[in-house]
Amino acid sequence: MDKPATHSFQAEVSRLLNLMVHSVYSNKDIFLRELVSNAADACEKLRFTAVEKPDLLGDDPDLRITIELAADTLTIADNGIGMTAAELIDNLGTIAKSGTKAFLDAMGEGKSDASRLIGQFGVGFYSAFMVADKVAVTSRAAGAGEANLWVSDGKGAFTVEPIALDAAPARGTRICLHLKPDALDYARKPTVEKIIQTYSAHVPVPIVIVTPAEGDAPATTENLTDGAALWTRPKSEISKEAYTEFYGTVSGQWDEPAVTLHYRAEGRTEYTVLAFVPTMKPFDLFDPARKGRIKLYVRRVFISDEAELLPAWLRFVRGVIDSEDLPLNLSREMLQSNPILEAIRKGVTSKVLSELAKLADNDAETFLKVWESFGAVIKEGLYEDADRRDDLFKLVRFRTTRSGDGWRSLADYIKDLRENQTRIFYVLGETQDKAKASPHLEGFRARDVEVLLLSDPVDAFWVRTALGFDGKPFQSITQGAADLDLIPRKDADQAPKEEAEAKLGASHLVDLIKAELGDSIADARISSRLAESPVCLVAPDFGPDKELERILGKHQGGAASRPILEVNPTHPLIAALAARLDSLDADAKADAAQLLYGQARILDGEAPDNPADFARRLGRLMQNAFG
Ligand code: ADP
Repeated sequence: MDKPATHSFQAEVSRLLNLMVHSVYSNKDIFLRELVSNAADACEKLRFTAVEKPDLLGDDPDLRITIELAADTLTIADNGIGMTAAELIDNLGTIAKSGTKAFLDAMGEGKSDASRLIGQFGVGFYSAFMVADKVAVTSRAAGAGEANLWVSDGKGAFTVEPIALDAAPARGTRICLHLKPDALDYARKPTVEKIIQTYSAHVPVPIVIVTPAEGDAPATTENLTDGAALWTRPKSEISKEAYTEFYGTVSGQWDEPAVTLHYRAEGRTEYTVLAFVPTMKPFDLFDPARKGRIKLYVRRVFISDEAELLPAWLRFVRGVIDSEDLPLNLSREMLQSNPILEAIRKGVTSKVLSELAKLADNDAETFLKVWESFGAVIKEGLYEDADRRDDLFKLVRFRTTRSGDGWRSLADYIKDLRENQTRIFYVLGETQDKAKASPHLEGFRARDVEVLLLSDPVDAFWVRTALGFDGKPFQSITQGAADLDLIPRKDADQAPKEEAEAKLGASHLVDLIKAELGDSIADARISSRLAESPVCLVAPDFGPDKELERILGKHQGGAASRPILEVNPTHPLIAALAARLDSLDADAKADAAQLLYGQARILDGEAPDNPADFARRLGRLMQNAFG
């Protein structure tokens, strides 16, 4: 036989192992859940592969997981798909998952609960080193004529060597943990039983426990779980704890699900759904791939977790869908375009939405937790799924100028419309604080008109394509004419006459600005949206909102369209300028126009078009004032 070849762990693995070994976790038990889950996956992979190659099952068709106890070792064995030497090196030496760095960073900061993170990131195998100072993996891939041994102490390197077939399992993988002195409890039957019942009672492969002979007592073999698919059992027989445990098993997340959806669809297509809406965000929620993780089964055989059984904007939903009608030998192409899958996708999407609507009605508090975690994802549906938009509008919640720390629905908004208000106003901002600071809001506040504060990236997109809600179009407060004049101000009776006069006076100033700024702006006009600021910029009626332009500009380096400069006629600066306009010389007029424009850009968080010119003019003005 060859000498064992030594391999180094990938740097990320070493970092991970270091964290695993040196941090003290509240809950080390989870290592067993991770190894059992890998063993179950290996069995399900073989069951699936054997559909086309039944020979692989040989004379051992009953897939199972066996946990063997000894004095100071714990062994988790499966008769699943197994690994070749190359697979051992690859799978147990690297971490392939996206988001691993985020995971390591989060763990390194010690902020998050490691046991919850570990499952989520699929770094499960390495958690064995929390309880073992040496791990030996023997594996024989299904159908292979050779077997291999992988050994490591988790300190930077591992060895892989071929071993004699009689020293290896006939098929599958045995993972032998040499327990650390302080972890010997994990070789005791009651401890193992308890962990399995807590975390793994419903993995879809039976689990057997083998205890060694002790004194006069002979070795025993006992079934711990039956491997029956939980979703095939009647709802009335399933406890809340069993559902939660299954949710953990299937998702790798260990929070309490907000919604548990278990039903059987009958009719033209028959399938069973056991799905969960989590309460907590997974780390990869905004991963660009936007992948969902619902598992597709066909008649109890696991097929794929990449079938995208729900739209991307419901990618946070976890669970299984088990079809009665699909063929077992589904090809990749069929996964992508298959009328049965299409019907399932539609049906389950509708069901999830109606369950969320029910939750919003019956348990607003839990619904808002879901919204806080996943609202930004659900809103992607407003843009991507026009057919679902009306249903989604019933679910969406917003921060608004009236919501404070709470949330408002569109129905709430419509209920509180102001007199003569015909639109649903919104402001886009990179953050809530930026949105709230927009000078454009002033006139809306003065009229007590509610404005939606939109700060999720997707907001800039859906508001442009959505036609409106309840017959009221969406209108950006930084775009187009504000149409606020018809809505009375809170202080309406105070100074209508002065306001009319001020508007008249400011119209000359507007003419001057247009002449002076020329092509830098699309237009200048009197504003009704301002109260405390002298000027602001708005986007033209048609074309992208400024915030959207900013987002697109970031991605594409696109040129911004020319803005409209709006002037607040009642602002003291504007009133004074308007009154003295005729007495100013040409330079002073140009300075006034340019400085107002520069100021409007600064209020938007941008630099003036020409900062040097702006500074020169400002300097001249200050010199005149103080000189
Ligand atoms: P994950 O299971 O999330 O992929 P792990 O680090 O736990 O991450 O495992 C890495 C890979 O090792 C698995 O994806 C699988 O390919 C392989 N593996 C682990 N355990 C087994 C097993 N018992 N049988 C076959 N392959 C396994």
